[in-house]
Amino acid sequence: MEIDRVGVVGAGQMGNGIAHVFALAGYDVVMNDIDQGALDSAMALIRKNMDRQVSKDLIAGDVRDASLARISTTLKLADLGQTDLVIEAATERETVKTAIFEDLQPHLKPTTILTSNTSSISITRLASRTDRPERFMGFHFMNPVPIMQLVELIRGIATDQDTYETCLGVVERLGKTAASAEDFPAFIVNRILMPMINEAVYTLYEGVGSVSSIDSAMKLGTNHPMGPLALADFIGLDTCLAIMNVLHDGLADTKYRPCPLLTKYVEAGWLGRKTQRGFYDYRGEEPVPTR
Ligand code: NAD
Repeated sequence: MEIDRVGVVGAGQMGNGIAHVFALAGYDVVMNDIDQGALDSAMALIRKNMDRQVSKDLIAGDVRDASLARISTTLKLADLGQTDLVIEAATERETVKTAIFEDLQPHLKPTTILTSNTSSISITRLASRTDRPERFMGFHFMNPVPIMQLVELIRGIATDQDTYETCLGVVERLGKTAASAEDFPAFIVNRILMPMINEAVYTLYEGVGSVSSIDSAMKLGTNHPMGPLALADFIGLDTCLAIMNVLHDGLADTKYRPCPLLTKYVEAGWLGRKTQRGFYDYRGEEPVPTR
């Protein structure tokens, strides 16, 4: 199936990056959010990130201008009616996502492929709540989208081969690499990554190390480019907690229990970089550990 016009629902950290890479690859993009401020910030960030790519000679100035012109924004889901593929990248809450699909599908063409960028929620269950489970998939980008090479493609139990192959073709046109994952909680990357981050929070909670010593140990001791607590702040502590809860509920194994300290940070509204405070405080010149 030919994909030309793409809808992105949710213009947060992930949505803006997804709109960026699709526009650069020549797709027309319609980006939706419930918050005009989020749409405005997303467009400003896409422009800034493309400017950076121009200054590094990664793309030409006229490519940036043409790509930006291919992105439109809207508060109305009905404006996604003519899209061939929709990527939902709204808040990681199942009720939010199912409500979006329910509101969106009456406006869509019957052939439009629906996908979710969810980090952890069952694709099969999300698909079952739509009118097109066979044309529904997980399309899981990594953060930051313009930089990270991987896209996890997750087939629900009903996803048909055409849908999978079409999405695979899209990943290739984006210049990225797909890894196929079965539809089990948190798929591949987060099934492995989140328990490590959660264990880093336990290590802090139990006083085995401070924020700085845990991050230095993992950076220098295992050659990770970022420490696990800095990475948690980058992902968003609410998203990390949500993924741990999905693993805990979905696999019913106590080894996935979220660390109470992670819950406490989320309760405080200290969600990481996006709120300027998490395991580090980002309000000054340099990030300062909060414990
Ligand atoms: P975010 O909090 O930065 O952005 C979410 C956006 O969704 C906000 O702008 C919000 O206004 C919008 N939104 C909420 N309800 C909406 C609705 N009903 N209709 C339209 N927009 C709505 O979150 P994020 O980090 O961009 O995460 C988005 C999705 O991507 C989640 O499913 C998350 O699990 C997944 N994801 C996140 C990461 C990461 O590192 N942050 C990585 C991969 C996948």
